[in-house]
Amino acid sequence: MKVTVLGKSPSWQDAGGACSGYLVQHEGTTVLLDCGNGVFGKLRRFVDYTDVDAVVVSHLHADHFLDLVPYSYALTYAPRQQPVPVHTWRGTDHPARPALHAPPGAAAVFRRVVGAWGNDDLIANAFALCEYDPAAPLEIGPLALRFCRVPHFVPTFAIEVAVAGRRFTYGADCSPTEALVDFARDTDLLVIEATLPRPERTGVRGHLTPGEAGEHGRAAGAQRLVLTHISDELGERWARDEAERSFGATVEVAREGAVYEL
Ligand SMILES: [Zn+2]
Ligand SMILES: [Zn+2]
Repeated sequence: MKVTVLGKSPSWQDAGGACSGYLVQHEGTTVLLDCGNGVFGKLRRFVDYTDVDAVVVSHLHADHFLDLVPYSYALTYAPRQQPVPVHTWRGTDHPARPALHAPPGAAAVFRRVVGAWGNDDLIANAFALCEYDPAAPLEIGPLALRFCRVPHFVPTFAIEVAVAGRRFTYGADCSPTEALVDFARDTDLLVIEATLPRPERTGVRGHLTPGEAGEHGRAAGAQRLVLTHISDELGERWARDEAERSFGATVEVAREGAVYEL
């Protein structure tokens, strides 16, 4: 399994960067985890967007799904995606229609977002949209996916992708939680958010500091730990040092284009 970071920014992009997007590839299967703002253009640097088998969305925050909009326009209006006569071998109006697995309630949210200026069924028509059941496993080709609810401001699901005895755990966005530690137990690769320079001072917590991310990695026994959802306005060196202190081993900070082979 190959994991490529397409975007690692928090809810605003790094200079030249993109919000959350992770490409997972194994043999002929290609899955995109999250499609935040800026991700579609980055995706195109690595794969043909018509070759993506499925997009899986962790939660319905803009920085995790907003580029489904340009992606939908491409699938709908790109010349090669235009309707073809039914007698051709494909026999379909949509030569490519990737699956889109999104959290419960997503269909209504997508309609509201794109309905603000145009056809509210843009995303639902461009993709084969289904709302996943977080309690049920999901198979995409040979990849086995599992979900785990984690605490955040809206319903949010960490995602595990497993194949051939290897496990990749994406923590999505979350505040400190045992749920993620249990879910990521002994994983080969934990990509975990490290958004905050310090814990939130007021209100409900929704994110982690690099030090907390390291603690989660250590408690889970993750083989490899990568910090993500972190702004270029935070010191990368500082974040890594903080996380390594609590993880007790080398930690990496996600970079666009970084590839992790499992
Ligand atoms: Zn979020
Ligand atoms: Zn986010």
